Amino acid sequence: MSAKIIDGKETARKLRETIKTQVENLKAKGFTPGLAVVLVGNDPASQVYVGHKEKACKEVGFHSEVYRLPETTSQEELLKLIDNLNNDKNIHGILVQLPLPGHLNEKEVINKISPVKDVDGFHPLSAGALFVGEKSLVPCTPKGCIHLIKETGFDLQGKKAVVVGRSNIVGKPVAILLLNENATVTICHSRTKNLKAELLEADVVVAAVGKPNFITGDMIKPGAVVIDVGINRLDNGKLVGDVEFETAKEKAGWITPVPGGVGPMTIAMLLQNTLEAAQS
Ligand code: NDP
Repeated sequence: MSAKIIDGKETARKLRETIKTQVENLKAKGFTPGLAVVLVGNDPASQVYVGHKEKACKEVGFHSEVYRLPETTSQEELLKLIDNLNNDKNIHGILVQLPLPGHLNEKEVINKISPVKDVDGFHPLSAGALFVGEKSLVPCTPKGCIHLIKETGFDLQGKKAVVVGRSNIVGKPVAILLLNENATVTICHSRTKNLKAELLEADVVVAAVGKPNFITGDMIKPGAVVIDVGINRLDNGKLVGDVEFETAKEKAGWITPVPGGVGPMTIAMLLQNTLEAAQS
């Protein structure tokens, strides 16, 4: 059996088209959603990510502001900028690109972002709202994972989902979102005793580990939906996920590729969150 491929690139493109139309309608009424992205320092990967976000904002017609600050920016300067953006009526979403340079206090910076503009969904109030089932801005990558599962037509209700990884930005929120869809959820991590046994029972697998080709085909239940969040660069320059695609696709019913799976959805969901923040 060879799995059907879940095309994140195409799904994200369709989403961006829908958002673009909604933005055109809002603009016709004299209102433009605005996103501010803040980048501190010269991390090459962060510069690429911010570039992609800036381009995506322009494409859908958002008002976009990008603040590229020097590595030497102080905590006070950064907090002051966020304060200004919190009070800026043209800005509806604020994203601070992580990781920040080591001398800056990431937690304090995230906590400074107004929860109503927290389009990354990393503020403790956003996380708490998700936990207790209140309306909130949901972290982009987990939201993209659920969108991709739904795109397959797979009904999550009563199904067993196994999430591998328990980070605050992917593993934990994706587990809560799966729970909200009435799946029976298991979260695995580095101290899990028998990962293979857990995975072999999973109708849905979400892999967010950060280890190349970590989950192999022999660990996948036949017909399972496999969502690979991992982005790992090999020494030969090739980009691979946390799931060994070639062996897993022979067992899974549906699978996301890397690249072209979850990755493109993250930016599409950032646009979606900005639109939601602007309309709330
Ligand atoms: P973290 O490093 O924060 O978390 C990794 C998780 O994997 C931890 O919970 C860790 O467990 C768990 N883990 C490590 N080793 C094992 C093991 N042997 N068995 C089971 N679990 C294990 O990573 P992130 O959540 O931030 O990211 C995960 C991956 O997703 C990375 O490749 C990252 O690049 C990618 N990513 C992709 C995005 C996208 O847009 N597509 C967005 C965000 C991330 P423990 O808690 O016990 O240490």
